[in-house]
Amino acid sequence: MASGSSRFRVPNSRSPKRRAQEDDREGRALKLREDIVQAVAWRRVDQLGLLAKRALRLQVDRHVLEATGIGMLLSDTSLWAMANDPQVAATAAAAAESWRREFRGRHLPVEATVRLQSREVPRPLGGKKAGPFLKVVEALDSRAGDMEPTATPMAVRTVAVAVALRGFEKLEDLEGVAQEETATWISSPAGAALLRKLTHRVWLGSVRRRAQERAATAAEEALQTQPACAEAFAASLSEEQQGAAERAVANQFEEAGVVGLGSSLRPHAATAALEAARDQGHDVLQLLDRRGAQLQLETRRRSLGSAASALRAWHGFAVAMLGYEAARTLPPRSEQDVVRWVSTFRNFGTAANYVGFLRWAARALDLGLEWDGQRIGMTLKGGKKWALRNVGSEAPARRLLTEDLVLSVTHLSESLEIAGFKAFLLFSWELLARVADEAVPAQWGSAEDVLHLPAGRHSAVYIDQGTGSLTVHWRTRKHRPNGSVLRRPCTCQSKGRDRCMPHAVAKWAVQSGACVGQRLWPWAPAAARKILTRMLALLAVPDADRFTWKAVRAGKATAMAAGGYRLQEILMAGEWRSRALFAYVDSDAADHAELLRQTLVHESSDSEAE
Ligand SMILES: [Zn+2]
Repeated sequence: MASGSSRFRVPNSRSPKRRAQEDDREGRALKLREDIVQAVAWRRVDQLGLLAKRALRLQVDRHVLEATGIGMLLSDTSLWAMANDPQVAATAAAAAESWRREFRGRHLPVEATVRLQSREVPRPLGGKKAGPFLKVVEALDSRAGDMEPTATPMAVRTVAVAVALRGFEKLEDLEGVAQEETATWISSPAGAALLRKLTHRVWLGSVRRRAQERAATAAEEALQTQPACAEAFAASLSEEQQGAAERAVANQFEEAGVVGLGSSLRPHAATAALEAARDQGHDVLQLLDRRGAQLQLETRRRSLGSAASALRAWHGFAVAMLGYEAARTLPPRSEQDVVRWVSTFRNFGTAANYVGFLRWAARALDLGLEWDGQRIGMTLKGGKKWALRNVGSEAPARRLLTEDLVLSVTHLSESLEIAGFKAFLLFSWELLARVADEAVPAQWGSAEDVLHLPAGRHSAVYIDQGTGSLTVHWRTRKHRPNGSVLRRPCTCQSKGRDRCMPHAVAKWAVQSGACVGQRLWPWAPAAARKILTRMLALLAVPDADRFTWKAVRAGKATAMAAGGYRLQEILMAGEWRSRALFAYVDSDAADHAELLRQTLVHESSDSEAE
């Protein structure tokens, strides 16, 4: 069609005389078109006969037909049928036929040219045939009349016709049309005012409708994000609770006839079994949701205790300081509330972990993360920097042992004749032991015990007479439910006999007359700590009474880092789960010192006995 329409283009070389003639033709065509449109729009069907005769007399050419679209009107047989007079229809058909001849048997260009896409002139009846056009006018007329009952029927009809002529079918469709444009549609003041009023009303209505839709969506979201009690959720995080909940869901699946989900059932078979259960009336989707929630908990299973601590801490702060209802402490109401909470921490590594648990809980409970934003991360980051600047890399209340301090304490304990303390401290230090759980209860053992720990035994410590190395077998260690066997060589050659841990322990074993299966050390954790802090005080170490047994494990790791050990070696020496470590590393913990600090901080936030 593109080549066709280009041939209808008017040449630029028209003479002034010819142009005037054409303008005159176009003017008369436009007038006729307007009169036909008005006759149709106002149903003045008695005028159609005269209009058809005018059309027959009208001189047209391609340009006029294309510019006015009047050909569309003349070839619309439904329009002329409105006159209910065969003569009128015949006259119109004759006019259309003569114009068609002008195009040598082609279609009238207005029926198919691209310009028909425009809402402008060439679409005489809004692009419709007379019948559908009138239907639209009537519908608009009745709607506008309903909206403005006091308007005159004349003004209402004027508006309906003006709107329909532009190809609109509903007043609502005018929403996107500029006021400046609609202002030009109607010349009569009453009609123009009415159109202005109606378009404004339509606009208001759509604004209100959108607001209602938004409110409905918000209500729906609120329904989905029922606030929860952080403390109650924390309580549900115990191993027993989780186990019971899992068994309950498994039982419900089995009652519904879905056996082996998550174990023996392949996906296809699972779908079939679930389908069957659903058809029997079981709420299968709800069960799947519960299983999904449990699988999500699994991601933090090993740190459920820490998660519970974090959630209880948030709950307490939210209720006491922020005025939250106890039953609605999750999710946080705003980012600002979380920033306030973070600001209460002295250790921002712990704070970061706690916020992480808050996020995890919000996700697990499907509560949304609208409260989570960049300011939280900035506060945590800034807090860490602040702590570094103000109190060094350690939390203010925490004191760590160093190699020098350990050496000083062992010497002092020897000169004070505190039997066994040197061996005890070196043992704890070199093995990076959790003192209360691992070093204090350590039991003497045989070479056999180290290989196969007898039932009922906590541990076995054995020293090989030949090599002088010490081996310890713990039945369980944290994160190592199957226990752990560690060996430390004699260091008499490298560090001197005075500093050799295996020899100090061997000496103490002989001195104390240790028997296989008996505890090596005579003290409870608290008593042993008292000895330590007393000696630190004697050594004039500041804040001596603030040293806890965490000073050993974290202190040795830090000392190793300072001594140039690689991170992996330190993690192995302390048997940290590197997987656990990396799970808690945050983005700015890129360097090893920070990684290590994160590890220690995380461990200290666990509920490990001191
Ligand atoms: Zn030695």
